[in-house]
Amino acid sequence: MLPDIEKLLELQIADKEIRQLRDEIAALPKRVAAIEAKLAGTKSLLEKARAAAKADEANKKKFEAAIQDLQGKISKYRDQSLDVKTNDQYKALLHEIQFAEQEIRINEDRILEVMMNVEVREKDVKAAEAELKAETAEIEKEKEDARRVTAEDEAKLAEWNGKRDALRHGISEDLLRHYERVMKFRGSGLAEVRDHKCMGCQVMLRPQTYNEVRNAQTVVVCDSCQRILYFDATKEAQPEPVAEPAHHRKRPRPKSDAPQAWFYRPDYGDEGEVLLVYINDGGNATRRVYEMHSGRQIGDVLTREGNYRLAFPEDLTDSAVRLNGHWDEEEMDEWGSEMPTNALDSLHADLRAAQREHGSSHKDHVAPAQHTAAS
Ligand SMILES: [Zn+2]
Repeated sequence: MLPDIEKLLELQIADKEIRQLRDEIAALPKRVAAIEAKLAGTKSLLEKARAAAKADEANKKKFEAAIQDLQGKISKYRDQSLDVKTNDQYKALLHEIQFAEQEIRINEDRILEVMMNVEVREKDVKAAEAELKAETAEIEKEKEDARRVTAEDEAKLAEWNGKRDALRHGISEDLLRHYERVMKFRGSGLAEVRDHKCMGCQVMLRPQTYNEVRNAQTVVVCDSCQRILYFDATKEAQPEPVAEPAHHRKRPRPKSDAPQAWFYRPDYGDEGEVLLVYINDGGNATRRVYEMHSGRQIGDVLTREGNYRLAFPEDLTDSAVRLNGHWDEEEMDEWGSEMPTNALDSLHADLRAAQREHGSSHKDHVAPAQHTAAS
């Protein structure tokens, strides 16, 4: 994997973390505002209930006053009736009295209605008061939580921002600009390539694009979503040890970015023909050397920093032939000073197949058993 892409992957983690923290910080005041709005609603309900109770009280007084007034009128009519001279006058007074009595009954009914309402009103006011009390306590707690979480988030954010700035420093400017543009619009700037697909947009890659991503020599972006593509070799299934390939079958091509790589060198200093195996592991590379025909190990396991291509450049000359083969490192340790026959045979067979392939395009090439200096 390109170092810039490794850095970008770390940067993407930091960017996503920062975005999440910012969203959380922004959401907290909104939550508090929502509860405050609810609180305001409850307050206004309580005020309405109280106002209604007050209005009822005023109405009751008004109706009581009206009754008193009507009773006064009735006693006045009764006094007048004692002095009337004609039957018509008497009837008229009687009619007035009846009308006032009817009005009194209407007002009495109204008072009764108000009295029945009072019970409901009191319940409304009490419920609104209890609600307000609960909500006030809740909002205080929410505000306290919001203050605490915000402070924690701000601290984390500062930490991530520091990491982010440090990571950005080491990445080339053009690549960084591209990453940020895509990140802004798509929420992520990088996408893994798996099964020939961009995992960001699920679109199949053209074979050439796929190979470019796998070779990891240049930065490749997805044609359809513009995300920067990367290939994680550790997630790829390891190739099986290769058996003697049938003549008609095509030899599998060794994967250029496999974590374990076997090579044949016909001209390895005083040792002559050797088999070499390199293993990339956690930023280091190891090298084991075996005598070509006996499988005897030559020297000790050598460890150097970095990917094997960078760590052992002097080994990978033009005469080196890349071979198919994979064994667990633990298994190789168990081999001790000599490679087992089946492993040796499998590598020899693959070398023959490789040289046959090579020979079919270069007629002058000789078979491996007869030569010691391949070109
Ligand atoms: Zn894509």
